[in-house]
Amino acid sequence: MLKTAVVTDRAYTRHFAGRSHPERPERIRALIDMTESVDRSGLQRRAPREATLEEIALCHQPRYMQRMGETGALERFDFDPDTHTSRDSYRTALLAAGGVLTAVEAVMDGETDNAFALVRPPGHHALPDRAMGFCFFNNVAIAAAWLLKHRGLKRIMIVDWDVHHGNGTQAMFYESPEVLYASTHQYPHYPGSGSLQEIGAGRGEGYTINAPMPADFGDDEYLRFFDDFILPIGRKFRPEFILVSAGFDCHWRDPLAQMRVTEEGFVGMARRVKKLAAECCQGKMVAALEGGYDLDALVNSGRAVLEELGRYADEPVHPALNGAAVTPIIERAARNVGRFWNLA
Ligand SMILES: [Zn+2]
Repeated sequence: MLKTAVVTDRAYTRHFAGRSHPERPERIRALIDMTESVDRSGLQRRAPREATLEEIALCHQPRYMQRMGETGALERFDFDPDTHTSRDSYRTALLAAGGVLTAVEAVMDGETDNAFALVRPPGHHALPDRAMGFCFFNNVAIAAAWLLKHRGLKRIMIVDWDVHHGNGTQAMFYESPEVLYASTHQYPHYPGSGSLQEIGAGRGEGYTINAPMPADFGDDEYLRFFDDFILPIGRKFRPEFILVSAGFDCHWRDPLAQMRVTEEGFVGMARRVKKLAAECCQGKMVAALEGGYDLDALVNSGRAVLEELGRYADEPVHPALNGAAVTPIIERAARNVGRFWNLA
């Protein structure tokens, strides 16, 4: 068995975005109850720390950070029609970014093989100067920037299987060859970005992989895109650390999107990423919660991924033989971004 750490805290329930908001405290409450029912001796529980302002500033502009800090004095502040704060949102967002850092530090220091940070608010839509899409600070992007700056790594891979395109994460590393960003997402859908033409720019050209997929794609198409595209490029990139933006809103039950991924699909994606990490970087990977708005789907999928992280990395991967509907997307992606990687 691998050693897996779960980083979470009931303090993550303190951010409150509004009475009928889908990104609600119950999400974390349900996941914590789930982790407490997982009976495994190899499972470490860790409390998150808050990220420091210097760490947040790795990805966000001072003016926006100050504005975010000022929301702590307000009953409510609306950054956009979907993105609202309560008095505790700022501190909770610092703890979310810090939770992913806690997980990354534990893996880097060899205290655990891998880790799952069950945090909220989520992060992958947050831009350097702006909150959007339920997100305030970009937890995963901050962790990637932190690994580059504070641990001297040169190649970080971010796999984002949340149903929405992680426009914030993509924007932060769009011109960087140090961060390979790979996203599968429903398209067209919120936030509108993530087309096949978006492949990075400047020195970062070829280091952004997008899989814009129509509604109703499920396990077969997702796993095939992993097998035929994300993993071959990942093996050539040879990441020194892999971060996963683990959203569970591509589950078939999710109310905010129309994809058809099941618990087995999440296990399949997690197993593939784990295997890539074993091949390239002694298994060093951290998954961080992003979206997922059906509580049963969230808990069952979160449990499935957490259990998969603890299994040995040599569990068999059954190649995706179905899912031919994704082939045209793979072919177009191969022409756009694949040409930078000499894919056969
Ligand atoms: Zn999402």
